[in-house]
Amino acid sequence: MFPAFALSPTAITSRIDKHPLPLHRSKTPRRALLMSAQVTRKFFVGGNWKCNGTKQSIQELCEAFNAGKNIDSSQVEVVVAPPAPYAMLTRSILRQDFGVALQNCWVGKPGAFTGEVAAEMIKDIGLDYVILGHSERRHLPEIKENDDLVARKTKYAIDKGLTVILCVGELLEEREAGRTREVNERQLAAVKARLDPADWSKVVIAYEPVWAIGTGKVATAAQAQEAHAEIRSWLHRQVSETCASQTRILYGGSVTPENCVELATQPDVDGFLVGGASLKPTFLDIVRTHEAKTAARV
Ligand code: PEP
Repeated sequence: MFPAFALSPTAITSRIDKHPLPLHRSKTPRRALLMSAQVTRKFFVGGNWKCNGTKQSIQELCEAFNAGKNIDSSQVEVVVAPPAPYAMLTRSILRQDFGVALQNCWVGKPGAFTGEVAAEMIKDIGLDYVILGHSERRHLPEIKENDDLVARKTKYAIDKGLTVILCVGELLEEREAGRTREVNERQLAAVKARLDPADWSKVVIAYEPVWAIGTGKVATAAQAQEAHAEIRSWLHRQVSETCASQTRILYGGSVTPENCVELATQPDVDGFLVGGASLKPTFLDIVRTHEAKTAARV
């Protein structure tokens, strides 16, 4: 089920009027924008710990998160992704209102695939999420996952009951060549070719411009909004109106407690995937931007 709640027509109009510039400048059809405004998508904040941590540092981080305020799970979904060897430790220490994800999984059934972790195993240890298609896995020369592999992994993981945090995004040279939209749509089209329409309810898209990841160079709010609106428009044209209005699209790339509020209040930004800043207790400040998002909608 999509986490969706209807808004009144007045709230829709006022929301559109509040964001005239990025919306009206965008090439996204106004119909798609209206449609995108008709639901409130539950805010989602993911923390990608990448290949960082020790038993001790993870224990300390989880304890710091546990000491934070209660999270209103009806307003925000929070999921952290530790390195696989620490997943069960994290799950056993971390507060239950935070989900736990792995950062990757194998493309098919368990078997003779040395070094891999199967989707079935992620479910078996009680986790419900996996990150797929992260730019480090797509672009590092030692890994080089292609669009179709990411798509096949996405389908398999969904079939095994996982929610997939699916990363897409362009390289710096692709942005400079004006190819952002084309790259995002190519990566999404590969996934569409493998999924059944209903599978999209188990996908959270993370738009992560590669030039912004781990660089301290965050996309402007207008750049993020433009890319998110284009992705939502693609979902509308290529999958369905329901999918477009209900799929969460997260922004990722050098998000910090200092820059997250302006990004969060963009109409098509439904949360964040956070790398470096998710390794600090102040990650909770990023989680709390769901409050600013709610205030911006009223
Ligand atoms: C990421 O790894 O998904 C990410 C967005 O990293 P950072 O926040 O460090 O840029």
